[in-house]
Amino acid sequence: MAETSGPTVLDDLAFLDELIGTGPQTWDVIGELPVELLRELGAMGLLCAEVPTRFGGLGADSRRNGELTAHIGGLCSSLRSIMTSQGIAATAVRRFGDRAQRQRYLGELTGGTLAAVGFSEPEAGSDLAAMRTRIERAGDTVTVSGEKRWVTGARYADLLLVLGRDGENAAAVLVPSDAPGVTVEPVLDPMGCRAAGHSRVLLDEVRLPASAVLGGGGHALALLFTTALSYGRMSVAWGCVGILRACLRAATAHAKVREQSGKPLAEHQLVAKHLASLFTAEQVATQACRQASERWDAAAPDMAVAAVLAKHVGATNAARSAGEAVQVLASWGAQDGHVVARAYRDAKLMEIIEGSNEISELILAEHALEHS
Ligand SMILES: Cc1cc2nc3c(=O)[nH]c(=O)nc-3n(C[C@H](O)[C@H](O)[C@H](O)COP(=O)(O)OP(=O)(O)OC[C@H]3O[C@@H](n4cnc5c(N)ncnc54)[C@H](O)[C@@H]3O)c2cc1C
Repeated sequence: MAETSGPTVLDDLAFLDELIGTGPQTWDVIGELPVELLRELGAMGLLCAEVPTRFGGLGADSRRNGELTAHIGGLCSSLRSIMTSQGIAATAVRRFGDRAQRQRYLGELTGGTLAAVGFSEPEAGSDLAAMRTRIERAGDTVTVSGEKRWVTGARYADLLLVLGRDGENAAAVLVPSDAPGVTVEPVLDPMGCRAAGHSRVLLDEVRLPASAVLGGGGHALALLFTTALSYGRMSVAWGCVGILRACLRAATAHAKVREQSGKPLAEHQLVAKHLASLFTAEQVATQACRQASERWDAAAPDMAVAAVLAKHVGATNAARSAGEAVQVLASWGAQDGHVVARAYRDAKLMEIIEGSNEISELILAEHALEHS
């Protein structure tokens, strides 16, 4: 349950602009985030702001965390991706961990420890039920074996939240990234979110104490995925709002001052149409996110589908609108590192992650068939 009341660091996010500065432009080009900054943000509780204060978090409600996510997403989608992973890990610990695990891991996740989350495997992309990773308990120990793909932030992470098979059921285990048997291989030259540290993670008979398995395991596969993915969808949706706001800012600022054929671009009606479209996209995505956050905070029965809707609206609008922003800036934005160039590449990937467009549409159609 959210608990934000008095003034907090989340009241005025301008300090982030100063802290992050012009870094995103460089990070995109070199394909790397500064780990010390990630740890600093983590230790301020900003990477998983919904963690309750009694565990060292900021106790933000979903909307406040969403506005934070949008703010960071507007500056740097790679950094926002790290927040998403950290938030998924914290959500899984809160939902599935026992008391001791919540105390230990939530303290770490709000204290500068960085986490990444491994669902996807070579044979299990959209179809996570095809997952093969095994989490096998024997007495006081557990052995984890498998392969995870495209794990955001694994390159920087201290802890890997790994989801896998636990007999007929499923389990989530927290694996230290330096445990014997863990290999992290960075994905080379990703198309977008280039500094997010995506990696292939190999788990070769990794032996850990059984206390690393959240809640002892034995969870229903669908419940485990839906819980973790729902947080991820909310986070990506708000991140897309940030992309849209950044694109809208860049496109309007440019269209006001750049003149062609004797007048500012904004006064050419076909350019103005792009601005109207960007504004509409930002407003629609924001409303979908606000609604989903409300449902999330109320723990409403439709909170999971509201998260899918917000993510779908955010991702599809961001992907289309980032293209329009590039169109308005034309050659002035057509360079790696530029905010609209990054948005164009990053936003496309939002249509793939945390449930692709097609998977989101299947879920929304099923909901419509049941409830309309
Ligand atoms: C930037 C980025 C970050 C990522 N971060 C993580 C991470 O942190 N952790 C992690 O575990 N994974 C991560 N992933 C992996 C991501 O979750 C998968 O890419 C995603 O689930 C899709 O799986 P896939 O790429 O194997 O595509 P596939 O599942 O092979 O799908 C290919 C295409 O077919 C469509 N399709 C598939 N099944 C159906 C169906 N039943 N009906 C209709 N259409 C269908 C899909 O929508 C897609 O268009 C990341 C990926 C990217 C690109």
